[in-house]
Amino acid sequence: MKTNTATPSILLVYTGGTIGMIENPVTGALENFSFEQLKKHVPELQKFNFYIDSWQFDHPMDSSDMDAKAWCMLVDIIQSNYDRYTGFVVLHGTDTMAFTASALSFMLHGLSKPVILTGSQLPIGVIRTDGKENLLTSLEIAAASRPDGKPMVQEVCVYFENKLMRGNRTTKLNAEDFNAFRSYNYPDLATVGIHIRYNLNAIHYDNTETPLTVYTEMNTNVAVLKLFPGIQEMVVRSVLSIEGLKGVVLETYGSGNAPRKGWLLDCLSEATNRGVVIVNVTQCKSGMVDMDRYETGYQLKSAGVLSGYDITTEAALTKLMFLFGQHLSVDEVRQEMMHSIVGEISME
Ligand code: ASP
Repeated sequence: MKTNTATPSILLVYTGGTIGMIENPVTGALENFSFEQLKKHVPELQKFNFYIDSWQFDHPMDSSDMDAKAWCMLVDIIQSNYDRYTGFVVLHGTDTMAFTASALSFMLHGLSKPVILTGSQLPIGVIRTDGKENLLTSLEIAAASRPDGKPMVQEVCVYFENKLMRGNRTTKLNAEDFNAFRSYNYPDLATVGIHIRYNLNAIHYDNTETPLTVYTEMNTNVAVLKLFPGIQEMVVRSVLSIEGLKGVVLETYGSGNAPRKGWLLDCLSEATNRGVVIVNVTQCKSGMVDMDRYETGYQLKSAGVLSGYDITTEAALTKLMFLFGQHLSVDEVRQEMMHSIVGEISME
């Protein structure tokens, strides 16, 4: 890379996903293509007045294959290039982008540069692709600076279809629409039309000058348990008795409600007494858990279940992985789950 202190430089990391795919003329299946091909399809990349370097996963992956190991690779790439670049744009499949964005937000502590994840619903080689705009605008945002010269955005974000969102607040909500991501419980960090309008009150700015510290240990002994009418004791008991289980995201109804069945409360109490951290996250897309509102929620609280407030399942799950990865005690994990670490819940 050419170094020049005045000119921004962005590292574009290509992990895989639809955005970098092209149709195999023989089988008709979508296959990954290289960054060089990406540049051919997006000649506009040459027009930016900042430097763009690229780094590509050896085996680009469908994001369904993303896991903690791949998150660690991403964190390593960002850490080892941190001083050389103004910002980072990560091309990623949309299916698990919200999980990766959430995980990275916890793993990159003290981040003061943008890490923007983006992707697309249609491959970049397709005429009507949404990938071009998502890619070009992500790069522009990653290179943007404030009047004091510091990066405009200094956190892990998802950029998709005209919206820049805090990464750990996002959820994929549509399998077809270009407008596929939402941050239901936190305002968008920027909206994009003719102008890019930054929401400066919503973007996180850390004035403490904390250096970047990366955490690469994630404990994946976690599970998501989604309640549904008619759920059977056997199902709940099987999940909660998984050997080595550390944390569970319990997806409940409405403001955090669950059936008032004795066996359910017994199963939950037994698990929390064994040290399993169970976090109550609502199945609703928007709004928050309030376990004091109804008796059905209150009972969960008595069984030792924690309120996830307005956290997403993606953020709650990766936060549990992260906290248990730091070898914290059960009490410490419980404490941390009730506080915001990087703006993932609407409370300090
Ligand atoms: N299956 C793809 C993935 O998540 C879908 C996409 O990129 O939009 O990798």
